[in-house]
Amino acid sequence: EAEKKPGGMLRYGIPGFRLSRDILDREIRWIREAGVEIRTEAQVSHPGPLFEAGFDAVYVAIGTQLARSLPIPGIDLPVVSSGLDFLKAVNRGENPEVSGNVVVLGGGNVAIDVAMTALRQGGRDVRMACLEQAEEMPASPDEIRAAKAEGIIIENGWGPEAIVEDGKSRTGFRIDLKACTRVFEDDGRFNPAFDPDRILALDADHVILAIGQAADLTCVMDAEEINIERGLICVDETTAATADPRVFAGGDVVSGPSIAVNAIRAGKQAAASIDHFLTGKALSGSSWAVPRTAVQPEVLASGLYVRSEPKQTVPAELPAAERTCTFDCIEQELETDAAVREVARCMRCDICIGCGLCELVCSEMGFNALEFTQTPAGRLVFSNFLGPGTSCAGCGACAAVCPTQAIQVIRDKDQVTTQFTGTPVCEQPLAPCTVCGRPHATERLKGGLSQRSVNIKGMDAVTGDICHSCARKAAAEGLRARSGRYRRSS
Ligand SMILES: Cc1cc2nc3c(=O)[nH]c(=O)nc-3n(C[C@H](O)[C@H](O)[C@H](O)COP(=O)(O)OP(=O)(O)OC[C@H]3O[C@@H](n4cnc5c(N)ncnc54)[C@H](O)[C@@H]3O)c2cc1C
Ligand code: SF4
Ligand code: SF4
Repeated sequence: EAEKKPGGMLRYGIPGFRLSRDILDREIRWIREAGVEIRTEAQVSHPGPLFEAGFDAVYVAIGTQLARSLPIPGIDLPVVSSGLDFLKAVNRGENPEVSGNVVVLGGGNVAIDVAMTALRQGGRDVRMACLEQAEEMPASPDEIRAAKAEGIIIENGWGPEAIVEDGKSRTGFRIDLKACTRVFEDDGRFNPAFDPDRILALDADHVILAIGQAADLTCVMDAEEINIERGLICVDETTAATADPRVFAGGDVVSGPSIAVNAIRAGKQAAASIDHFLTGKALSGSSWAVPRTAVQPEVLASGLYVRSEPKQTVPAELPAAERTCTFDCIEQELETDAAVREVARCMRCDICIGCGLCELVCSEMGFNALEFTQTPAGRLVFSNFLGPGTSCAGCGACAAVCPTQAIQVIRDKDQVTTQFTGTPVCEQPLAPCTVCGRPHATERLKGGLSQRSVNIKGMDAVTGDICHSCARKAAAEGLRARSGRYRRSS
């Protein structure tokens, strides 16, 4: 990590009034406690030295650290700065001074963050100017509403023409904006058109650009086997692998500027792929994604799906008048009642519908590996992710009864993995069949079978050492031998 602290844009881009640093620090502490070493202030210039230092695989998640600029007159004037650099300076605690009139160019969520931060840093009149009309703005409606509530003015339908020194203006500088008559072509291509005769001139002490980001690919430029297209690293969409088998990549440097949850998902996928790579398994089998399956009609008819219906609880916000002088989080923590309502919803409700069939069948199999708890709202939720690690036998009964494939038991060569909504909860080896030698059953399953059959009268205890097909073959041969005997005697 090149920066002083880990967290990437979550620490140095996203303002503190959106994401509490306590939460971020706690999440990073958990990652460290899980055994991950994070070396900070360590700018990597090429993957090569990492391999020389003994690492076997590299994951490139360097994000998009460069701010885009504009080819307009006056762009080098001292009043002009980049929104990303401004946010980074604020988040590093450098406290950049802002005063007077601020014009932020851009209409996305980053531009809104820049404008709201400029207000907190001392801006008096903060305006955003963007090409789009209000309904076309890429920023989310909630963020636009929050910015307007703080007194930020949004000038819609204007594009920058020039930034000029102006002795007559109070600020000494002015930005001229020209009317934007169209942002996109009919086929959706970005191709703005302007009316040069309609000009809006704004006095400005600061002009801050928030018109997009790009990746700084210096550290992979010389790596021959890493392909770059349109300024982003190319990877296999399923496995996150680059053309160099030891190098994987994900997050914004692959997708372009996106959102945190997508970068986190990319990291999980890459972790699964790197695990496959290091243990010599085919990368194609590493897909972390859980296929979403249609819920079967009888489940819909049963009404169980209704349990997944509650909508998201919207947290209260700090009132606009109180928040513009602080970087405290705008979204407040949930009250207890609201938190209880919120946890009654299951984030993977499209997959696990909380029917409890798997728990039932697992206990009937005698393993009791699955534990569900009823929430105050009456929904069954999987509550013990560690339980299967010590008791699951990999028998597959739960997966067979699950109507939505939320629980899956996957056999891959000599290993069986039990997954709950995509998270592996138990991985165990399959012992070979003593007759044909093919991977067959886990030690726990063999133990469970012999325990259950030990008291059955007239039957030898089952050891589970033989696979189903060998057992069937042996039984058929026994029958044949016996029926031959019967024929002879008759
Ligand atoms: C202002 C702003 C607001 C945002 N708001 C939201 C939001 O509200 N919600 C949301 O979900 N997403 C938001 N995002 C997007 C989100 O932050 C990103 O999608 C996410 O952080 C991308 O994660 P990443 O790991 O790919 O890259 P980053 O978070 O950018 O992390 C990349 C890391 O790599 C380090 N690095 C770069 N080059 C090198 C090198 N050569 N050697 C060593 N280290 C290097 C960087 O220092 C950085 O720490 C916002 C982004 C910005 C800029
Ligand atoms: S695979 Fe594991 S969790 Fe599923 S029924 Fe069998 S023992 Fe229980
Ligand atoms: S995992 Fe499947 S069987 Fe178990 S509760 Fe969820 S939907 Fe029902």
